[in-house]
Amino acid sequence: MMETAYETLPEVEPAEAKASAGTLVMKFGGTSVADPEKIRRVAARLVGARRSGVRVVGVVSAMGYHTDELLALAHEVSPRPKPRELDMLISVGERVSCALVAMAIADLGTDAISLTGSQAGIVTDTVHGKAKIVEVKAHRIHTALDEDRIVLVAGFQGVSTAFDITTLGRGGSDTTAVALAAALGADACEIYTDVDGVFTADPRLVPEARKLHAVSYEEMLEMAASGAKVLQLRSVEFARNHGVKLHVRSTFTDEPGTWVREEDARMLEKALISGVTHTVEEAVYEVEGVRPADLFEALAAAEVNVDTIIQMDSRIVFSAPLEDRPHAEEALGRLGARFSEQLGLGKVSIVGAGMKSHPGVAARTFATVRDVGVEPKFVATSPIKIAFYLPHDDVEKAVRALHDAFDLGSPEAERRHA
Ligand code: ADP
Ligand code: ASP
Ligand code: MG
Repeated sequence: MMETAYETLPEVEPAEAKASAGTLVMKFGGTSVADPEKIRRVAARLVGARRSGVRVVGVVSAMGYHTDELLALAHEVSPRPKPRELDMLISVGERVSCALVAMAIADLGTDAISLTGSQAGIVTDTVHGKAKIVEVKAHRIHTALDEDRIVLVAGFQGVSTAFDITTLGRGGSDTTAVALAAALGADACEIYTDVDGVFTADPRLVPEARKLHAVSYEEMLEMAASGAKVLQLRSVEFARNHGVKLHVRSTFTDEPGTWVREEDARMLEKALISGVTHTVEEAVYEVEGVRPADLFEALAAAEVNVDTIIQMDSRIVFSAPLEDRPHAEEALGRLGARFSEQLGLGKVSIVGAGMKSHPGVAARTFATVRDVGVEPKFVATSPIKIAFYLPHDDVEKAVRALHDAFDLGSPEAERRHA
């Protein structure tokens, strides 16, 4: 048995029935607001969009490495900070950047208001550190937009059904932006970041990687789940479930980026594979002597997001995010399971909707990794993905070889629509 398990998202009803055609949600990542000059540039971009006639909601991440710094600070003070207090602390980063952008917008002569996630009506469940949005009560945003203001919302955070401040997991501002776009009936959600779009591989690792013109929700889900951190996985699930079109693009240029939307035939005409993704560190567990139902129930109860599952007779191998490791170990300990952790593994995946209808992709994948001397430890597939775990020193080599083998550095790989 092999499968990739995605979390299911609770349905979110648009809080306001009022459809707001002409609304644009623009999200800016941490590098985009890293210093005062960049904050002023983001403000100018938001004002430019407003002056073109649309209603504008800006979502910002914390400045640069602010979230990491706050996390480090917490761990300097306390070895195991309480999750509730950690969320109180790390949600502050987005509050800082969002207030600064609102100030810079006012200086450009446009009215703006900054809101925390809670003030913006983002209601979540009570799981600190990776809360899920359960409802967006957007009336305050609508009122501010009706008053002709630009609304800035602090990303990555909400308020729980128990009235505590929660955060949405690393990269969570993407999900804030998509949830707001869904709730406001926005025309599109623009994700501004430090690269020009979604590439055929991480451009920091493969310089000849190409920017994709368009990817389907399904491909982007697989890419986000397997290491393309340019979009948080949950934001893509949300966009697909609510039909929100995403445009991932650069903060620093006006060039169009990558559209993430429903699959269309033209996406498949040009290239079978949309990209090669990777992670350098995976937490992989091997468990024996526990029934799968008991194991996965215990992991779910411990809020562990299980990714790949492979079962062979009484042996179960599964992977889960590194940050879930303490919870996974605790749950396995409580079950009294015999388990070991496989250390030093990374994961390389090739993703492409075209592989559904074209044989030979697996053959070419395994021949390519064999030819560069890489031995996959475990393999997991979905209809549009082949993923394998391998020693992390081999990750870069495998990514480059596969990128080459599938011609992803060629202009066709961009899937440009004429
Ligand atoms: P932001 O702070 O704007 O949210 P992130 O750091 O979360 O930005 O995501 C952007 C980064 O994602 C890029 O700098 C890039 O290194 C990385 N990345 C990994 N894989 C890909 C890919 N396939 N396409 C684009 N970027 C990728
Ligand atoms: N600032 C948060 C993080 O670093 C959220 C985000 O950037 O989207 O994960
Ligand atoms: Mg991000």
